[in-house]
This record gives sequence, structure tokens and C-alpha cells, in this order.
Amino acid sequence: MIGVNCPEISHPDLGIKEQPYGREAKEYTTKRLLGKKVWLELDTQERDRYGRLLAYVWLEPPSSGSEDEVRSKMFNARLLLDGYAQVMTVQPNVKYADLFVKFQREAREQGKGLWGLAPAAPSTSKGGEAGYIGNARSKVFHRPDCEWAQKIAPHNRVEFRSREEALEAGYRPCEVCNP
Ligand SMILES: [Zn+2]
Repeated sequence: MIGVNCPEISHPDLGIKEQPYGREAKEYTTKRLLGKKVWLELDTQERDRYGRLLAYVWLEPPSSGSEDEVRSKMFNARLLLDGYAQVMTVQPNVKYADLFVKFQREAREQGKGLWGLAPAAPSTSKGGEAGYIGNARSKVFHRPDCEWAQKIAPHNRVEFRSREEALEAGYRPCEVCNP
């Protein structure tokens, strides 16, 4: 789903631990989507570099594409509005990126879902405050809101204050988030 990142459920083989609200996000998504008919809207890229289909998932077919319609009928937006996901903007698929940021802000202000958890529950992504995140094993660095940054095992996770610092340390930029 374009533009959103849900907290992880555990993937022991990938070294990923369950993140707060991961299970709730999975249950919510299963309940709302499993066995349902949906309409997929694509953006600029049909697939990411890992071959995954990239789409906006509409619960009912959109007509005008107005903000109200996005709020009520698009599942990507529902995840943000109900606090089950954080915004994850990946160029060039940014058709609804500004709206998504607005929806996330609303959810945060209202303490919805993961935003109502104890402080520091959402693991990352406050828009640049964390600088850049490196993976000590792969020597790749990311923007903090990159999906791949959020999958780095804690013992491999390195923080940099700037791009320059990461480059000087011998890290190369992620090809997904283009830090
Ligand atoms: Zn990245």
C-alpha cells in the first residue's frame, strides 16, 4: 500500500521484532479487507524494485477523488486516520502524500491507535529529527521514514546526524529512499 507503513509483526528469520501496535494493525487490515472486493489505483510506478505491486486500495470505487472521498473510501487513508500506520513517502509515488501527512497529523493530535501508546512507541519517523539511519551490516543508510530503515535489527542500527557523516563513515545511500 503506497504511502503508509504499518508497525511490524514479528519475523524471527529477518531479525525483526514485533513493534507496538503491529498485531492490532494486522487484525484491523484482515478484518477490513480479507475476502472483500477492492479497487486498486496505481501511481507512477506499478511495482517497486522488489517486484511488489504498489497501490492505493479503495473500498469503494472513487468518483471525484476529493479529500472526503479519500478519507472515507481509501484504505491507505483509513490506516493513517485510525492510527494503524505512519506515513511513508517514497518518490515518485506521491499522488496523495500531502493528504496522508495531514491525516497522520490528525490521528496523532487525537491520540488514535499507535499515537495513543506510551511515548516513543512509534519507532521512527518524525520527519528528519533522527537524521539518517544506517545498517552496520549492509553499510547502507536511509531516511528515518524509509521502510527498510525500520527493518534494521536493533544491533545493526546506527544513527547519523547528517548525510555527510554517513558517507564519511563509508555508508552508501539507499536506492529506495534516496537519502
Ligand atoms: Zn531506504
